Amino acid sequence: MTTQQALFTEALQYIPGGVNSPVRAFSSVGGTPIFFKRAQGAHLFDTNNQQYIDYVGSWGPMIMGHNHPKIQKKLTEQIILGLSFGSPTALETKMAKKITQMIPSIQQVRMVNSGTEAVMSAIRLARAYTKRHKIIKFSGCYHGHVDTLLVQAGSGALTCGIPDSAGIPEAVTQDTLVLPYNDISALKSIFTQYATEIAAVIIEPIAGNMNCVIPDIQFLQALRDYCTQYDALLLFDEVMTGFRVHSGGAQARYQIMPDLTILGKIIGGGMPVGAFGGRQEIMSYLAPLGPVYQAGTLSGNPMAMAAGLQNLILIQETKNLYDELEARCQHLLQGLQEHAHAHHIPFSFNYAGGLFGFFFSDQTPKTSHTLTTDQKNYFKLFFHGMLKKGIYFAPSPYEAGFMSFAHTTDLINETIQASQSVFETMTTYHTSSI
Ligand SMILES: *Cc1c(COP(=O)(O)O)cnc(C)c1O
Repeated sequence: MTTQQALFTEALQYIPGGVNSPVRAFSSVGGTPIFFKRAQGAHLFDTNNQQYIDYVGSWGPMIMGHNHPKIQKKLTEQIILGLSFGSPTALETKMAKKITQMIPSIQQVRMVNSGTEAVMSAIRLARAYTKRHKIIKFSGCYHGHVDTLLVQAGSGALTCGIPDSAGIPEAVTQDTLVLPYNDISALKSIFTQYATEIAAVIIEPIAGNMNCVIPDIQFLQALRDYCTQYDALLLFDEVMTGFRVHSGGAQARYQIMPDLTILGKIIGGGMPVGAFGGRQEIMSYLAPLGPVYQAGTLSGNPMAMAAGLQNLILIQETKNLYDELEARCQHLLQGLQEHAHAHHIPFSFNYAGGLFGFFFSDQTPKTSHTLTTDQKNYFKLFFHGMLKKGIYFAPSPYEAGFMSFAHTTDLINETIQASQSVFETMTTYHTSSI
């Protein structure tokens, strides 16, 4: 048994499935998850000191690269001052001010400890503010493991409230309406049908949880228009897109303003942080000012604020960060595509800022999609082939990829180079499946 296998075997005994978040278990690619012990820049190092070029970036936060010296310094300084006080700190105001300066639609913001918690609180706030119950979400969008939102439509069909997970009573999801992504006519008919009942529409303004799916600008505009017309709130879940596709999030990239914005991942700089914010008039419904209860023992924790604030400062200080990240995504994906096509393997891709996705198909999807067996098998072969060459992509074909400012041209070229022989080995599958 390798040390990696031994570590996983032991983890399986004490942790359900051996992991604290399901995608880490490698279920969709097979094999043993890698146990890492160190990270630096664009690299991860496993427990055997094997080095990997990392395109996961802890699922988003590491936009400036792992273990940035300035974040490390802020954390070290804070450790000496104390880990948590359970009372206000000036650091929280600095963080809130920074977020309002960067994200255009946010005037006030409340910090929490995860994206899930932020979504859950924003939904409660939206329902209280509108005095309505129904929530529209889109198939293929993930908003954390919030009970009301763990619902998904099968193959883009409109469904009402069938929970995706055991343990969620149907009563909890009966006010959740699921629509296909990028479908304006479905949106129109649901607003007509439930005109006075819809509290909020929640969406990933670029969908990063069904690989990477790009919205039609007209679709986002229609969302804004219908919400305004019917007095519903528009919620952008920017936990993934916030500070990743633009310093002002997808709302700044597309110039479409939501009523509430949900943040996470990058704002923690690697620490567990979430936040939600919007106009002062809506945010004042929160306790202690208003009737919506929301609280957290460790919310606004100084360690988390120190790391997150420094991450945002680095983002602001880096000139042309998003053009640069986008150019790197283009370089990587174009390179991979050329090698794939040279071996007659279908390959298409999407990217926005430092977020990307690739598909073993000729066209990128516009909405929630189910992969074919061939596409899944291609992905498994690609994933494991690249892993053997020291390149770590997300271990699922439904997850996005993350480019960081630490991914140099040389590292991207190394990745493209490595893919050549991986695609070569994949042609065996290709010919055997015909
Ligand atoms: C990751 C993610 C969440 C959940 O955040 P957690 O911190 O994992 O709870 C919610 N929404 C989106 C769009 C995400 O990508």
